[in-house]
Amino acid sequence: MQRDHKVFDLIQKENERQENGIELIASENFASRQVMEAMGTVLTNKYAEGLPGRRYYGGCEVVDEIEDLARERAKELFGASWVNVQPHSGAQANAAVMLAVLKPGDTILGFDLSHGGHLTHGSPVNFSGKLYRPSFYGVEKETGMVNYDHVEEIAKKEKPRLIICGASAYSREWDYERLREIADEVDALLMADIAHPAGLIARGLLDDPLEFCHIVTTTTHKTLRGPRGGMIMMGDDFDNPFGLKTPKGNIRKMSALLDSGVFPGTQGGPLEHVIAAKAVAFGEALTDEYMDYIIQVKKNAAVMAKRFMEKGYDVISGGTDNHLMLIDLRSKGEITGKEAENALIKADVTINKNMVPFDTRSPFVTSGIRVGTAAVTTRGMKESDMEKIVDLIDEVLANIDNEDKIRDVKEFVNSWMKKFPLYK
Ligand SMILES: *Cc1c(COP(=O)(O)O)cnc(C)c1O
Repeated sequence: MQRDHKVFDLIQKENERQENGIELIASENFASRQVMEAMGTVLTNKYAEGLPGRRYYGGCEVVDEIEDLARERAKELFGASWVNVQPHSGAQANAAVMLAVLKPGDTILGFDLSHGGHLTHGSPVNFSGKLYRPSFYGVEKETGMVNYDHVEEIAKKEKPRLIICGASAYSREWDYERLREIADEVDALLMADIAHPAGLIARGLLDDPLEFCHIVTTTTHKTLRGPRGGMIMMGDDFDNPFGLKTPKGNIRKMSALLDSGVFPGTQGGPLEHVIAAKAVAFGEALTDEYMDYIIQVKKNAAVMAKRFMEKGYDVISGGTDNHLMLIDLRSKGEITGKEAENALIKADVTINKNMVPFDTRSPFVTSGIRVGTAAVTTRGMKESDMEKIVDLIDEVLANIDNEDKIRDVKEFVNSWMKKFPLYK
């Protein structure tokens, strides 16, 4: 077959874009060569509907071993009792859980999208807001943090079947124990979606949701630094959320329900090439090297937040406990999130515009930006580099109409990034 230059030239171009720029999108990271290598293999050829040992197709002996390895490593990494590594993405993991534990029309209680939640937590444009009856809690205006008394009030009023915690743009620790008390009080299931901070949770740098939440979902490609994908987990400390009568069989029965939510509920054949890459990434996340990395991610975020505040930026909640922060640009005059994003991309600094709590602008414009340190830390950047990055962002935003200034920043960024090569 002739080489498809058209496609591979574009991939090369994207490779250069990633090498040359500063990547601050909080949900992005750079997977290792071996993670990518596993994805580009013959495993993509294999159909394996079902689970290891119980497949609907023949010839699954090898992929069974691969998927079992992924499951065992995931359990070890998170201290989970049960996992399903098949969800194609974080959104698919959430869809599978909701299909398994809810009936259409059931009430769910999620974290408000405009306060940092995710589309799959009940947004009206998403399946979760169309098939179920969504209700929301948010952060307090004064603190920028979740007020659990307020969550309890809403839960008592709305009587949700499922309470969802976890977010895409919330920089603070969650009180899973308190949320579980609230869930028990109103007879709801509690799900934590740790798509963002999964890597920090896995290595003990944030509280463990598996201790208190019935179900935990995650992506594998954000702080976890694996292939693009999702996963569902359970711990062993839960009551009898499905009203099943056999205490000993609880874990198995609940897991069977969740397994069926993935397949046949919401997916067809699992992506075994991606599952192999997940196994590789989980193996990496168990190493001392990854531990050093994830500690540095957190340190870098703290330094970055501090520097933003020193420069007069309003960091929501006044700091961060994890790898990301949300910045309200309204303290800096009239710059919108959209304008900031567009100006920074000209300087090869990639961030995303983001709604801030109580935003007065639309999701397409926004008053804020979200930044995270997972990707730049993978490149080897340290605390002093974070300060430099904030200074560069500030220079662009302070000179948002000055094309020459922005070009100077871009040239600096491109030559600076040569010191932090990604895929040599
Ligand atoms: C990123 C994210 C998801 C969705 O993950 P995809 O892989 O993009 O589908 C779900 N929940 C939260 C909280 C997220 O941040």
